[in-house]
Amino acid sequence: MSSTGEAPPRDAKQVVDERVGGLQNLGSRALLVTMVVAESVALLALLVPAETTSSSVRVLIIYNALLLIALAAWRHTSDWVRRSFLYALLTVVLFRWSFAWYGADLTDTYIAVVATLIQIPTLLIAVFLMHQKRVGLGIGTSWLVTLGLVALAGSRRTVFIDDPLNDWRLGPFMVAMNLGLLIIVGWWVREREDFLAASREQIELIDAANLDPLTGLANRRSIHQHLDSLTRIRHVSVVALLDIDHFKAINDSFGHEGGDAVLCRVAEALAGAIRPSDMVGRWGGEEFVVVARGLNSSMADDLIQRLRSVVTTADVTASVGWTLWDPAEESWSEAMNRADISLYKAKESGRDRAISG
Ligand code: GH3
Ligand code: MG
Ligand code: MG
Repeated sequence: MSSTGEAPPRDAKQVVDERVGGLQNLGSRALLVTMVVAESVALLALLVPAETTSSSVRVLIIYNALLLIALAAWRHTSDWVRRSFLYALLTVVLFRWSFAWYGADLTDTYIAVVATLIQIPTLLIAVFLMHQKRVGLGIGTSWLVTLGLVALAGSRRTVFIDDPLNDWRLGPFMVAMNLGLLIIVGWWVREREDFLAASREQIELIDAANLDPLTGLANRRSIHQHLDSLTRIRHVSVVALLDIDHFKAINDSFGHEGGDAVLCRVAEALAGAIRPSDMVGRWGGEEFVVVARGLNSSMADDLIQRLRSVVTTADVTASVGWTLWDPAEESWSEAMNRADISLYKAKESGRDRAISG
């Protein structure tokens, strides 16, 4: 909390990334792992009939194993490591592709060409997932066009004369086919981005509707909702109203910002003193409501003393009016009125005390 007391609202981006983004990442990684496994099967199918221990096949197997390890360690690596790893893979594939067209003997060329074609889609998807939208499209397209140009030039070598690889259409065909894939993946990534943005907006709107902007506590609207839900489940609860004593004097001495900071400190102290299933909200001004269910009278007494005691950490005292509310017997507004009358009595009889009614 800042010195002026602005309560940090939930970081919607973080919440969405954790909830939805995290899940999406898991889904994306599952997709990539499936593709790498499928690639490996395809490569083995290629290797067995070729009856070769071609070095490029071995390189491919090692490459796929590395990719799988990287995907497994994905969550534990930084963005920088992931990007460097991906660029390294793109470079390795480009080099091997060039070697296939310019240096390898004919059998190796076939294996390397087909194997690379099998691998390209996985890498394109990885590029897009990492960069999103335009940058992904840019990197993916430039990489593909480079591969296409290498194939175009390589296919003209004399060693391929009388060979089906000596066909200028191979390069452009490969580029066109994978560009189609790139566009589909780009569209998917865009949809996903839009969905994440909408989820973030939704969280911000929900928070704006339910939280007090100064303290971050529940506002009156969500306190009402909470009381309505307790009415439905018919749990006996403590309803307590706390009003800071002589708060006007704090504003007069420390200014409005100083007063705001005190309100935030009180809010934080109260929120830390209740159970997660209970609720503290800002009723208005320097008045707070605590609703705690399932307590008998003596537990309620303890709770009220605790609340009064934590409030003093913000260098103020509070008067408290409280009551036990049984939803089977009365509405919450009746209980709230009783707590309000008790609060008034606590103020009348000298403040810094709790009175139950
Ligand atoms: P008492 O002990 O009788 O409760 O006295 P009090 O001064 O606390 O009560 P009073 O109702 O006279 O004054 C409440 C003050 O709280 C007046 C108002 O300006 C101030 N206040 C209400 N909301 C806010 C707020 O959001 N920020 C700040 N800084 N002050 C607020
Ligand atoms: Mg007041
Ligand atoms: Mg007051």
